[in-house]
Amino acid sequence: MFNNLNEQDTQKNLKLMLLSASVLIALFIYTLIKSDSAMEGGTYYFGIGFLILLMVLAFYLQKYKSKIRDMIPANKYQDNFQNTLNKSKEMLNNNTNNIEASISNVTFDDVAGISSVKEELEEVVDFLNNPLKYKKYNVTLPKGVLLIGPPGVGKTLIAKAVAGEANVPFFYQSGASFVHIYVGMGAKRVKELFLKAKSQAPSIVFIDEIDAIGKSRGLGSNDERESTLNELLTQMDGFDGNSGVMVIAATNKVEVLDEALLRSGRFDRRVFLKLPSLSDRKKIISLYAKNKGISINIDELALNTSGFNSASLSTLINEALLNMIKRNSKKINENDIQIAKQKVQFGKQQFSILCHEEKDVLATYQASKAFITQQKVSLFDEGIIDDDCTYPSKSKLLKKIKFHLSGKVGVDIIKKEPHVVFQSEIDIAYNIATDMQIKYKMIINSDETLAEISRELENEIRKNLQEILKLKQILIKEEVIVF
Ligand code: ADP
Repeated sequence: MFNNLNEQDTQKNLKLMLLSASVLIALFIYTLIKSDSAMEGGTYYFGIGFLILLMVLAFYLQKYKSKIRDMIPANKYQDNFQNTLNKSKEMLNNNTNNIEASISNVTFDDVAGISSVKEELEEVVDFLNNPLKYKKYNVTLPKGVLLIGPPGVGKTLIAKAVAGEANVPFFYQSGASFVHIYVGMGAKRVKELFLKAKSQAPSIVFIDEIDAIGKSRGLGSNDERESTLNELLTQMDGFDGNSGVMVIAATNKVEVLDEALLRSGRFDRRVFLKLPSLSDRKKIISLYAKNKGISINIDELALNTSGFNSASLSTLINEALLNMIKRNSKKINENDIQIAKQKVQFGKQQFSILCHEEKDVLATYQASKAFITQQKVSLFDEGIIDDDCTYPSKSKLLKKIKFHLSGKVGVDIIKKEPHVVFQSEIDIAYNIATDMQIKYKMIINSDETLAEISRELENEIRKNLQEILKLKQILIKEEVIVF
């Protein structure tokens, strides 16, 4: 038994045992002396004898405890249990104690391209640098900025750049690190995070992959995640816009986020990041090739890396440089790039690189859409520029269906068989048609309407095939069409 209790506990228990036995004996003797009634039987003497025995035993255990401990074989399982318990305690402490800020030395110059994103965040930097300028006019900035975009497009990098430009502490936490097996620990960690951020304000709290905690509460219940999310909401409500704490969160699944997070006063500002365009890829390649004393055909490399995200572009250049060094050369050649491409494609960081045929299908889809909508279209853009109006007319809804189906019909005709490109666009078209019939009671048959619009598109596309093929070539070359 001594093996499993710590020294202090053992001491305390023995002392308690001694003290209780002594008090009881004293009470017993006092009752015996004061009592007028005669003793009957040996019951009282038996009681007092037992208490004395208890006292002696406590004395004995106290005195020879180390010898007794040696005699008792160690109980492996209980020891393990004790160790696990200690480790858990340690982990719980670590979980909240290791929230530390870092100082970011990243600046906007380290972020290539995404100029519109930089512009949006420059305001945040200015706010952190000159809070008085805003306070003077009682202007508050959103407490939270949500960066939305696929992995590897620079969400973390730009958040670090904001911290670096504003020269404020940067608290990085990944959403997953909040969701623990111990209920309540995530919430505790959130509380601790904000406490520290406030104590070091102005500061930036960056929560990567916020969807790990911010998933809609309707999507499968998880007590730990919910309590963490509730704490995050409470914390965000608990400080005012001038506290100097700016929360930046990143996600690539905005659609699963709980509505409460997007409500006013929380992540009011949303910034979208996309896969880098052709011109952004040129800028990223230039940045990574800069000051390396190498000559590289940036335009050609940018053209041949459609579908690359910024992170894989940086990896690609690094791998190509490694090959160049291996050859004792100072110039990256086509072979270095090809080997690097293979490594990036088949190595750990797997992601899809568009092959020639895939690019052709995508360009056909987008060229058809560009022709029909007469809107700016980029190679990787999903959806259309929507001029959402509050009270859409029937003809406006029909036009919307047509726009969303245009890419699909274009591919069906030009590639001579259906392909799956952007499923979400077809879903939108079908949903609008169904809503028109069932919800809005516009007296249409959704299937017939869809078929009719598809026929109309087919005629238009066939009639203007040459024009669309020209647009396709521009898209393959420039990746964007602007009207
Ligand atoms: P995300 O958070 O969107 O998943 P990261 O910010 O972690 O992406 O980007 C990973 C890496 O990719 C960065 O550390 C950086 O090396 C590179 N990178 C991403 N975007 C850019 C960019 N716009 N300019 C330069 N490098 C970038």
